[in-house]
Formats: sequence, C-alpha cells, structure tokens
Amino acid sequence: KTDLPIFAVRQRLIEEFKKSETSIVIGETASGKTTQIPQFLYNCGLHKNGLIACTQPRRVAAITIAQRVAQEMGTPVGQEVGFCVRFEDSTSSQTRIKYMTDGMLLRESIGDRLLKKYSIIILDEAHERTIQTDVLFGVVKYAQVQRKAENHRKLRLIVMSATMDVDHFAKYFSSAPVLYVEGRLHPIKINYTREIQSDYIGAALTTVFQIHQEEPAQDDILVFLTGQEEIETVAQTIKDLQLSLPLSLPKLIVCPLYASLPHSLQLRAFKSTPADCRKVVLSTNIAETSVTIRGIKFVVDTGKVKAKSFNASTHLDILSVQSISQAQAWQRAGRAGRERHGIVYRLYTEAQYFNFSPNTVPEIQRCNVSNTILQLLAIGIKDIHAFDFIDPPSKESISSAFSELTLLGAVVQSGSKLYELTALGQKMSVFPLDPKLSKAIVCAIPQNCVEEMLSLVSMLSVESVLYTPQAKKDVALDVRRKFTSNEGDFVMLLNIYRAFKQSKGSKSWCFENYINHRNMNVVFEIRKQIRGLCLKANVPLTSNQRDMKVLRRCVAHALFTNAAELQTDGTYRAIDSNETVLIHPSSCLFQSKPSYVVYRELIHTSKCYMRDLCVVDPDWLYEAAPNYFQSKLKGRR
Ligand code: ADP
Ligand code: MG
Repeated sequence: KTDLPIFAVRQRLIEEFKKSETSIVIGETASGKTTQIPQFLYNCGLHKNGLIACTQPRRVAAITIAQRVAQEMGTPVGQEVGFCVRFEDSTSSQTRIKYMTDGMLLRESIGDRLLKKYSIIILDEAHERTIQTDVLFGVVKYAQVQRKAENHRKLRLIVMSATMDVDHFAKYFSSAPVLYVEGRLHPIKINYTREIQSDYIGAALTTVFQIHQEEPAQDDILVFLTGQEEIETVAQTIKDLQLSLPLSLPKLIVCPLYASLPHSLQLRAFKSTPADCRKVVLSTNIAETSVTIRGIKFVVDTGKVKAKSFNASTHLDILSVQSISQAQAWQRAGRAGRERHGIVYRLYTEAQYFNFSPNTVPEIQRCNVSNTILQLLAIGIKDIHAFDFIDPPSKESISSAFSELTLLGAVVQSGSKLYELTALGQKMSVFPLDPKLSKAIVCAIPQNCVEEMLSLVSMLSVESVLYTPQAKKDVALDVRRKFTSNEGDFVMLLNIYRAFKQSKGSKSWCFENYINHRNMNVVFEIRKQIRGLCLKANVPLTSNQRDMKVLRRCVAHALFTNAAELQTDGTYRAIDSNETVLIHPSSCLFQSKPSYVVYRELIHTSKCYMRDLCVVDPDWLYEAAPNYFQSKLKGRR
C-alpha cells in the first residue's frame, strides 16, 4: 500500500491542508486519493475529533472503499470507518471517517445547513459533476463562511478530481491552491477506427476476439459499454463464441461490472486472473475513475455512455445512449497504462473524437432539477436564482421545476423570484424520492393507507422486481398471471409485495414465481428506511388493507401530470404534453385499455410507451388540480 504514488507527496499534502481552508487535489485514477487522503487527515489529527466526510457519486464506490479502508486500518466497517448511502447506514458513534454518497451529505444539510458535525469535507470525484456534488459545492462554501461568522469550528474542504481541467474549480473556490498527485502512467498507444462504426457492439466483440487471438494471455481487456442489458448480452455472446475457438487459446473469463450487479459478482472483476486465462471486464463508466481493476493492458472504448437527459416537454428525465466527452475518452484510455504500456482501441474515428465535447456537461445542466430545488428550499435557500452554483441550471429547467412543484402543491411563489415550501412541500422534502412519489406518501395520510403506499413506493423505487428470462418468457408471464389486476400494474406490484411478505421473503417462492429475489430484498430495505423517516416525521402508519380504490385515488392525486386519456383510435393522449402514447406490452392493462391511467415512466423507442400504469377515475385527476385540468380534460365537464 505505501508504494502508492500518493505516499511520495504525503507530507506536502498535509502541510497544504493545514495551511488552507479549501484545497483542490488533482490526481490520476488509482494514485490513492480516495483511500489514503482521509487516513492521512485522521492520522495527523487534523479532524480534531470531528468527522471526516468523503463523498462519492456512487453507492457501490462508497461501500467498497469504506470496506477497503477499514481493512487497511485493521478495524471492522462501522467503527472508525463507516459508510452511509441511501437506505443504508453503517456508521456508529465511533466513526470518524465516513464515506458517503453526495446525496446523503446533501440530505444531512437539510437538518443542519452548517454541517456542524463535520470538521473536514472531501468532495471526491468532482470531475463527474453530479447534481448533488455541484449543489454541495455551494452548500459547503456557504457553511464555511457562516461557521466563521458564527464562531463555530473551522470547516475544511478538499475537492478531489481526476481531470486536469481545474481552472474552473480554482476560480469558483477563489484562489484555493491546486495540489497535484502524479500517477504512474506508462505510455499508451491509441488506435482509432478508419471508418465510422454503426454497430459499436459488434465492433467491440470483433476487437475483443482479435486481441484474444493475437496477444499473450496474461494481458486483460477492459471494454466500456453503456448498461446492464447490453453488458449481459455481450457477456453471453462472448461465452457462446468462445466455444467455436481453437482449444489451444486460453480461456476467457468474462466479468460484467455495473452498479446494480450484486456485490459478490462485482468483486469477480477485481480478482486476479489465473495464469492460463484471460479476463475480459465489461463495464459501464463505473470503471472510468471510481474503481480500479488490476492487470488491464487493453482498453476497448465504444465511445458511448448511458446518461440522463431532460425532456422539457414531458418534465421527465430520459436515459439514453450518448457520446462521451473527450475528457472521458482520456480517462478510459488511462485505464490501460497502469502497470505497463497499454493499448487502447477507440471504436470511433479520430474525426468523431474531435467532435466530442471537450468536457462532460454537468448533470445539473442536463437533468430535471425539481427534486434538487425541493431540497434547496428545505435547506432554507429561498432565492434559487441567487444560489452560488458553480454552473447554474438553465432558466428553462428552473422554471419547469418550479411549475412542476407548484402544480404538485409543494411550493408557492412569495415574491417575484422567491418561492417557499408549503406545508405539503415540507412534508414531501422528508423523503429522498422523486417529488411525485413523496407526494403519494403524503396524500396517503388522510386516506389511511400509508402502509400500502410505502410498499408501493418501495416497489417503484427498484429497477424491476420481475425476472423474465427470454427463453422462458411465456412460463414466467403465465405463473405471474395470478398477481395481475384490472386496476393496473401498481396494484399488481402491491400483490407481489404482499405475496412475497407472506412467503417470509422466501428465495424459492421468488424462483417459482419468476421474481427477482435480490431486488425484493432491496424493496424490503428501502421500505424499512422510508418507514423510519415516517416515524421520525410523526406520520401515522395507517393501513386500509382491502380497498385499492383509495390507494389509486392517492396515486392519481400525486401523479396527475402523468395522466393519459384513451382516444377513439385505441391510442392514448398524454394529457400534459398532448403526445400520442401507447401502453407498454408488458403492462397488465395492455389488453383492457381503460379510459384513464397514470403512468410511472415513458420509454421512447420507435414509439412512445407508458410503463407501470394505474387505472384512475378522471374525477380524481380533476380534484387533484382543477385549474390545470380545466382546459385539458376533454371528455369531462
Ligand atoms: P484514486 O482515488 O486516486 O483513484 P484509490 O485510493 O481509490 O485511488 O485507490 C488506490 C489503490 O488502491 C488502487 O491502485 C487500487 O488498486 C487499490 N484499491 C482500492 N480499493 C481496493 C479494493 N477494494 N480492493 C483492492 N484494492 C483496492
Ligand atoms: Mg478515487
């Protein structure tokens, strides 16, 4: 461990940290920033017995790094070193080094805007520019000034980034010193394709097999792809194709790596490769900077990433495959030259590379900011336009967020540019959820169905609880028919939740019913946490077991901006945008086509589909927002 590049500059770093209230650390990935700097600070006592927070954009990173550091310090996780991520907190009163997601620290600032329990805050992976980290820049900067004014103990801030483009940070943190940690990068050779590749997955497969057939076995390959489904498909294809290779070739070990992969399977990617095998890691951008894999010599970069972007007309974030930035391309390339010289295959032309945007566009300028604004208001920041954003969201996205929150009844305007939380908004801000789902919980209070709503919201907070292998699709659908409901997918989800609970969380029950056991456990965990938040906020945990109509009415009151109306031609009209939309074939309402539904999300493929539906009565929509529906609900009044 002490041979990490960061140990060469340890003393200098500590001196600089002592001198300056804010410092910026730039260092190549794997130089030891995240694992070592908190330990340096702790060991030299600079935290003065306060907490050291180190934020990460990803929960996987917060958990694995805390485990690693605890191991290095020879203590179990949860004592001196702990982690805190959404729905899971391992810290105790002994904890001094706390790895946490940026979202969790932001939540904590709602209770205490000055973040008084922390003496040092490290905002790590700052180059990723997630919404939460961006907002924390402003929140922590404010806390530093305010703590000084109120004579509280000093708050030290360390911003850590993997990219060299620091002028922007340095300027924002007026004259903070920039400290460099050199990595140990060996020469890397970059290859571009000669022609534009329309099928980057096919190109990636070809490249992997070319390397495999031509290069010595001890060199591993890292392929950057965009998401779970793509990675699993490529993994299967590599396994299938391998069967047709000459037996003299070494065995390929295929290791997928993406955030929602179970932790034990993620760890496979980090294990060292047996001598006569070659490892192929298929990863999302998670392997770009936040985790490091040893033994990689070849990087295959598709030039793609799955990222959220905001659709202003539907108020929704849509995940789509986009081109990476030049900065990301270099981070990816850098993963090849860790231990000896590396080779990078960029599956795009040099001209395409020069068309990539130089830096990654900050998430706050791409995504829906309504939850962020709800949180800022809850922290006590009334004038969002005057907030010290490093890069502010666009005016349109701020006003679109305010109109959504106003429609939901969470905020009211209290001045030309000022907004305030309503009593409803205050209650909603307790939950770390999409504002609509928070509202659904609050709406359930007077209707006495809070317990049911917690189950539903938890089911909607995981990717999918259904497990439908392509080869057994018909069997799976048939077995699950007993859960379906003519009241829609929301009621079906609740039925599954109840049946799972009755089975006492049984794994074999899940297996028999084609339900994803791991995700169901996550649902339990999420539910427990939200329920805890309810107890803390004195929300009565009422239950109205039988009548699903009451529950659906609450859903209508919260998700009314996602309502759609059946038209005479059998398609639907999304009431908010007037777009033509269809029911997704996976929905249990696909055949029955009720007159009014609300949906959880829209998916744009060749057509626009609504997924996860709930049957509603137009009267409920109307009573939720009479002014809004006055002109929009054609079939009524
Ligand atoms: P940085 O933050 O500068 O990218 P890290 O502190 O995350 O660097 O990692 C430093 C080194 O520690 C890396 O070379 C990596 O191989 C090693 N390391 C980090 N986490 C683990 C882990 N969970 N298991 C094994 N090695 C790890
Ligand atoms: Mg790091």
